[in-house]
Amino acid sequence: MPYSRKIKLTKKFTFDMAHALYGHDGQCKNIHGHTYHLEITVEGFPLNRPGFTDDGMVMDFGDMKKIVHDAIVKKLDHALVLNQNAPYSDNKDFLNQFEKVVILPFQPTCENLVLYFADALECAFVANIKLYSIRLDETLHPMQYGPMIENGLLKT
Ligand SMILES: [Zn+2]
Repeated sequence: MPYSRKIKLTKKFTFDMAHALYGHDGQCKNIHGHTYHLEITVEGFPLNRPGFTDDGMVMDFGDMKKIVHDAIVKKLDHALVLNQNAPYSDNKDFLNQFEKVVILPFQPTCENLVLYFADALECAFVANIKLYSIRLDETLHPMQYGPMIENGLLKT
């Protein structure tokens, strides 16, 4: 059956990550952690491929899981993420105390991470599937909405 309407698919991921916000004037300058809740939404037409495993799907959730895991979750889960502008980010004696440290060229806020994820996923999906939105919550709270980036804001 040929499809004329696009479908959005959302998959949720969680990972635990520590960070420190260099220069922040509150508690966030200290190393602390969050359980991050990430929602990735893609958009596309269901595939019309009778006889194939992905017939009727925009994409297999298993493929989506692998793409996001490889591009984001594997790298950041249980990592300490630091701003490269912080003086401690090149202190080997300090960094060697940890097994998994990721130094990023920006302040590792939730907002900047969403933009970073958009870049990381920009070319990760095949041509018929478009990255539609990314939402990231540091802490799940029913009245709080984490930063979200939608299609119009992504680089083209
Ligand atoms: Zn934090």
